[in-house]
Amino acid sequence: MLRSVGVTATEVRLPKHLEELDGLIIPGGESTTLSRLMSLYELREPVAEMAKRGKAVWGTCAGMIMLANEITEEDPVPMALMDVGVQRNAFGRQVDSFEQDLHIKALGEREYHAIFIRAPVIIRIGDPVDVLAALPDGRPVAVQQGNMMATSFHPELTADARIHRYFVSLAGGPAFDPEAPLIDTPRVR
Ligand code: GLN
Repeated sequence: MLRSVGVTATEVRLPKHLEELDGLIIPGGESTTLSRLMSLYELREPVAEMAKRGKAVWGTCAGMIMLANEITEEDPVPMALMDVGVQRNAFGRQVDSFEQDLHIKALGEREYHAIFIRAPVIIRIGDPVDVLAALPDGRPVAVQQGNMMATSFHPELTADARIHRYFVSLAGGPAFDPEAPLIDTPRVR
C-alpha cells in the first residue's frame, strides 16, 4: 500500500532498520508476539525515541495495542506512547471478525470500508488524543495524537489508500487533500 502511494517502504526487524525512516507502521498480528520480539530485538527504546522525536508512527490492530499506555490485561507490555486505554479482542473471537463502513472526516466525505480482525477497541482517550473515527455505537476505532496514529482495523486489506496517504502526510510527505479526486490506488506487491 505504501509503495502504491509512491513511498519507499522497507521492513523493520532490527533497530538498525529504523535509521533514516520518516515513519513507522506497527502492523496487525498478535500483540503478545510483537511485545516479546520487540523486547528480544531491543526495538522498544529506539521506536519510542523515534516517536518522541516527532517521526510518524502508526499502530494498526495489534500495533495499536503496542502504542497504548494502558491495556486491560497484563500481557502484552505496551510501549505507552499514546494516551489511550485499549481492550484486546473486544469483539470476540476470530469468527466474530467483521467489516464496517466508517465516516472518517479527515479522509473526506466518502465512507471508509474498515476490516476488523479479532480487533481491539479504544476504551479511554486522554486529552491530547483526537478521535478520527468511531463505530456506530460510538466506540473509537481510529485516533491521532500529534505525529502518532492508531487504528483498530487492518488498512492494508482494501484498495482504498486514503488513510495511507493521510499517514504519509504526517511523515512529512505531501499534504493530504480530502477534496482531491477519490481514486482507489491499485495494490502492489
Ligand atoms: N487479537 C490480536 C491481539 O490482541 C490483534 C489482532 C490483529 O492484529 N488483527 O494482539
